[in-house]
This record gives sequence, C-alpha cells and structure tokens, in this order.
Amino acid sequence: MCATVCSADSAATVASYRCRIVEHYWVNQRYKYIRLESKAPIAAMTRPGQFYQLSCPTTADAQPFLLRPMSVYGAGPESGRIEFLYNVTGVGTRAMATLPVDGHLDIVGPLGNTFTFEPSFRRILVVARGVGLATMAPLVRQAADAGTAITAIMSARTAGDLMEKEFLRGASAQVHAVFDADGTSSVEAVEALVRRLIDTQRPDAVYTCGSHRLLMLLQRVLQDHPGVQGEVAMEQRMACGMGVCLSCVRLFDCDGDKQFLRVCREGPVFKIREVVGEVEFG
Ligand SMILES: Cc1cc2nc3c(=O)[nH]c(=O)nc-3n(C[C@H](O)[C@H](O)[C@H](O)COP(=O)(O)OP(=O)(O)OC[C@H]3O[C@@H](n4cnc5c(N)ncnc54)[C@H](O)[C@@H]3O)c2cc1C
Repeated sequence: MCATVCSADSAATVASYRCRIVEHYWVNQRYKYIRLESKAPIAAMTRPGQFYQLSCPTTADAQPFLLRPMSVYGAGPESGRIEFLYNVTGVGTRAMATLPVDGHLDIVGPLGNTFTFEPSFRRILVVARGVGLATMAPLVRQAADAGTAITAIMSARTAGDLMEKEFLRGASAQVHAVFDADGTSSVEAVEALVRRLIDTQRPDAVYTCGSHRLLMLLQRVLQDHPGVQGEVAMEQRMACGMGVCLSCVRLFDCDGDKQFLRVCREGPVFKIREVVGEVEFG
C-alpha cells in the first residue's frame, strides 16, 4: 500500500451545506472569488488541500448535471466562512459565475486528505500554476502562521495572470515569478531554478499543484534529494467525489507496487515520488 499522505480529521462531518453568498466578484478576466457563509461550523473542520463538491445552478443556457470539485481557498476566521477561487471555464463554472450576492450555493464536503505539514519545518518550497494557487493558498497561510519560511515559484501565462496577491494573502514569501510570455516558465528554466533553490535553501518540503509538467519536473529533481518531502494536489476529472464511482482513479507506484488509487478519496494530495506519469497499454 502507498504511504498515505495525511488524512484529514476523521471526526469531520461530510454533509451537504446550504450556504449564503456573501461576496462574489471577478479577480481578473478568468477567475472569480466567492465567499460563502454556512450556519454550520465548517471552517474549523476544513483542512488545506481538501475540497468541496459544488452544486452549480441551472441557468437558461446551462444545465450542469454533476457537482463540480473545488479546493478550499480559505476557511474562517468566522466558523461558517468558506472561500473558493475558481476559473470560469465551462458549463458549471459559467453558471456558478451568475450567482448573486445573498443567493445560495449548496456544497458537499469537506472531502479528501490534507497536505503533510510539520510546524517544525524551517522552509517550504511551493510551485504553483493556474488553479494550483487556490489549492495551495491555505497551505501558505498554515506555513506563515507556523513561522515557516516560504519560497514560491509562481508560473503563469503572463504577468496579468499571476495573482500573487491572491495567492499570498498577506503572507510574506520569497517569490520567483515565471512566465510563458518570456520563456522563463519553460521546463528547462524552471528545473534549473528549482535545483538552485533546493541546493541553496534546503527546504524541508516541496508542494505543487496545477501543472502536470511541473509535477514531472519536480519528481525528477526530487530523485536527487531523498531527504526532501514532496507532495502534489492532483486535479482529476471526477463524478461523485466520495470514492464510489471510481472515475478519478490514477496509477501510483508505491515502492514498485503499482496501484490504482482514487484521487477524491486517497487524495487529492499524493507523494510526488509515487505518481506515475504516463500509462502504457498493450
Ligand atoms: C480536487 C479538485 C480541486 C479543484 N479545485 C479547483 C479550484 O480551486 N479552482 C478551480 O478553478 N478549479 C478547480 N478544480 C477544477 C474544477 O473542478 C473544474 O475546472 C470544473 O469542474 C470545471 O467545470 P465546468 O463545468 O465549468 O467545466 P467543464 O465544461 O466540465 O469543463 C471545462 C474545462 O475544464 C476541464 N475540467 C473539467 N473538470 C476538471 C477537473 N476536475 N480538473 C481539471 N480540469 C477539469 C475540462 O477538461 C475542460 O477543459 C479542481 C478539481 C479537482 C478535482
């Protein structure tokens, strides 16, 4: 069996919560922020890396059938406060983007496991791109609260897509921004940067989310640094989100033992070293 990444609090109640929309606005041309308020104390039972299944509304042009998985972008300090940062990309998120403040959104969760983080960590390295920012923002907060130094490599198409303020949310970090527009986000350039940062800063752990390319790059680099812990929050298309439908299984290599695991249930956080990049059939 794969070494499990931290499971979330087993006492947490997975349930459907009807939430009131307190804030809802565009952060840039593609991403929206939504803040919800539940009467239930869901903030305290939600851990960094966990996600909820969101019941996107039906509109005149969109009838999203399945619930949509979204990482928790923020929880608390009020007991019922929960936040999401989402890319408006398809049927469900386009319909969600129409929801008005004071309207309602039903969410199911909290689901999945959480990142392994020790308050004794001296420094962490986070490598994020796209929706990975939303997923890792609570981890950045957790590290900042623990007094752990943070180095962040943030990858984006252009400077306008970076969302540095939204990612750090007031936490202080050494930020290395890399862009597609000027080639600094290429695999070769980022690999050289990651190797330099690990060599010079010796982080206790490396975390990533939002890019398969970055994941594979980190897996390669971590082979040369067995003492550095590496975790990835995976985004896999999923239906139920609760481990029943098996639509989100991915192959993992746990010390030579190949296993299919459910991203929604055994994950979404996995050890970078155990992810299998490509499956060959036949
Ligand atoms: C555990 C988890 C956490 C996530 N957290 C966030 C988050 O914090 N913010 C955010 O913006 N998105 C997040 N996603 C991705 C998000 O679930 C999808 O973007 C969303 O379901 C798309 O729904 P849609 O109906 O708008 O798009 P669809 O019409 O279903 O698809 C539109 C596009 O999105 C892609 N897509 C659909 N589902 C997924 C998925 N599960 N993962 C990746 N790509 C997908 C499709 O391939 C297509 O290109 C997360 C996904 C998972 C599994």
